[in-house]
Amino acid sequence: MEDWSSQGLRYLKGVGPKIAEKLQKLGLNTQRDLLFHLPLRYEDRTQITAVGALQPGQRAVVQAEVLHVGSSFRRQGRSRKVLVARLADHSGVFTVRLFYFNARQQQMLDKGNWIRCFGEVRFAQGELEMIHPEFQVIDIEDPPALDQNLTPIYPTTEGLHQQSITKIVAQAVDKLQSHDMAETLPQDWLKQHHFPDFRSAMLNLHRPTSRQDTQLIAQRTHPAQSRFVVEELAAHRLALLQRRAEIRIKKNPKITATVQLLNRLVSSLPFDLTGAQEKVVADLLCDFDSGKPMIRLLQGDVGSGKTIVAALACLPVVESGFQCALMAPTEILAEQHFRNFQQWLEPLGVGVVNLMGADKGKKREKKLAAIASAEASVIIGTHALFQASVEFKSLGFIIIDEQHRFGVDQRLALQKKTINAEMPHQLIMTATPIPRTMAMSIYADLDYSQIDELPPGRKPVTTSIVSEQQRQSLIQRVADSCQQGGQAYWVCTLIEESDALQCEAAEVTFESLRQQLPGLSIALVHGRMKSAEKDDVIQAFKRGDTHILVATTVIEVGVDVPNASIMIIENPERLGLAQIHQLRGRVGRGSRESFCILLVKNNLSETARNRMDIIRNHQDGFIIAEKDLEIRGAGEVLGTRQTGEASFKIADILRDQKWFAQVDELANLIQQDQYVDMRRQLLQNWVGERQGYTEVG
Ligand code: ADP
Ligand code: MG
Repeated sequence: MEDWSSQGLRYLKGVGPKIAEKLQKLGLNTQRDLLFHLPLRYEDRTQITAVGALQPGQRAVVQAEVLHVGSSFRRQGRSRKVLVARLADHSGVFTVRLFYFNARQQQMLDKGNWIRCFGEVRFAQGELEMIHPEFQVIDIEDPPALDQNLTPIYPTTEGLHQQSITKIVAQAVDKLQSHDMAETLPQDWLKQHHFPDFRSAMLNLHRPTSRQDTQLIAQRTHPAQSRFVVEELAAHRLALLQRRAEIRIKKNPKITATVQLLNRLVSSLPFDLTGAQEKVVADLLCDFDSGKPMIRLLQGDVGSGKTIVAALACLPVVESGFQCALMAPTEILAEQHFRNFQQWLEPLGVGVVNLMGADKGKKREKKLAAIASAEASVIIGTHALFQASVEFKSLGFIIIDEQHRFGVDQRLALQKKTINAEMPHQLIMTATPIPRTMAMSIYADLDYSQIDELPPGRKPVTTSIVSEQQRQSLIQRVADSCQQGGQAYWVCTLIEESDALQCEAAEVTFESLRQQLPGLSIALVHGRMKSAEKDDVIQAFKRGDTHILVATTVIEVGVDVPNASIMIIENPERLGLAQIHQLRGRVGRGSRESFCILLVKNNLSETARNRMDIIRNHQDGFIIAEKDLEIRGAGEVLGTRQTGEASFKIADILRDQKWFAQVDELANLIQQDQYVDMRRQLLQNWVGERQGYTEVG
């Protein structure tokens, strides 16, 4: 049945070939996909805030007159001009700063013009400012109407502006408003649980109108949200079950649980394995011995030592004549694993190769040749490992590190790599704390092991909350520690929807730290740098050549520099607690006393304050996750979902535990034969058809 929602996006206004490509990158191919592209959060642009009432950290609409405008140079690699405008209304004055600007923007900020702008308020050098706000020139006698409703903020990608994606999604939502669309779930089931129908649920989330709706959405208790949470989790569950059934009947490489190389590596290590690590190694050997496919989830808190377990697990595989592939979510982490594995495995005569997206030409060909022959036994890389052009000689074992950074769909795509040959054994590692019952429900296709003990001698990280006003003394404190041989991470965060803005925030901080601390060596790393550049910066930091590493959340996972003992996190209130916990796991790895400083805005809400207190008072990832859940149950953040769970559009496996019973029930119901079409549609809507496994079963 063809309907409007299965049409492509080219017919929509504002979608040319270039934009279509960006949309595709977001997994958006049909108008139906646009509907399922749900807002990350909402912004309130329904009222104007007086300049005098602005608070740092707030995102607000203001109307003000340009008093003065000028541009000045700032030093940054090559020097660049900054546009600085002073604006005022009857109640106060603030500054607008543009680091990149064109002639038109300069003209708009002409002296005497009235401007309406929307952006985040910051407090810098004793003044309020907005950096790169959205702005327009207005007629103050006759200002344009304000928004009536909350503004949805959608996930987007580089090169696709929030305004553009909003306009594009709006066209699909308009159509939904005027046409009907088939219900995606059994009507009786919906009625029984008092869930709203598809159409009104969608409209509610894209365009909340009533105060009551917006309040419920803010608390995440709106029935429209609950409905889609259950629907999405059930869809994932079905995809996994389908996959598990398929995998269980596949042939697997025969791996003998030989321990010769394994024992040699264990005895060459400078430390003893913890009891928990030994137990997991035993689980893995048992899997190999059983002759059945290994599909095992390994959970262990940050720093619990998962990497060495992965390296050990590779050895029986190599001894049995098969290759191992290790996939990491970032190039930085892949590079680090590569160096570790080289150090551990090459003395045993095991060839290790890394393959990055950035490897091109001869270099890439050489590596591909090594992978296609027996020369490389262990291959490490990012998801670039599983491109069509990569041919393994005899892939027997796949390890996925920090699985929470990959979508379920990516994991499945990877299994598909060998769908017609034998199915490699799989070990999936994560630091996300998942209670066992939840793991079984969400990772229905996996067995489960846990490292529940940290290596001995770890010192707790002293965590403190410091307000923006104390920035100067904080900088001094970091400088003092660096002068005594210490090293620090300075992490800049921004809301995840824009990688570009996050990089810019890091650049700004980098620049100002460099100016204030000319005696120290300061480096910058962010997601938009070339991978070779990133690697150079990280290696210099590892060698101790750099005192302070200013970074975006690209360093969130895995990076291991024991000498670094201070971590500053700017705007931590914007991150999920699990993510802060991950970041903090970068320090407290060496012999120095370690500190994590949460640099917060002054006007933190009570809930945000409570969340920061949890991080300050607890070191255990499980406890942090549970407490976060308790607090977020009260819910204050407008529709924000945990950024770590990149694979879900609306669900959050921690927060949404309360729905597991309904998820089970729905998944079982839809597995019945009469719902085969509904099942197919559900998988397509939520899990995506990119991997093409919706046609199976
Ligand atoms: P994660 O589980 O977060 O991936 P890693 O594997 O990066 O943790 O390990 C963190 C650090 O602990 C590394 O420097 C690693 O060499 C070290 N390590 C791992 N196991 C042990 C152990 N049993 N005793 C001491 N140090 C260990
Ligand atoms: Mg790790």
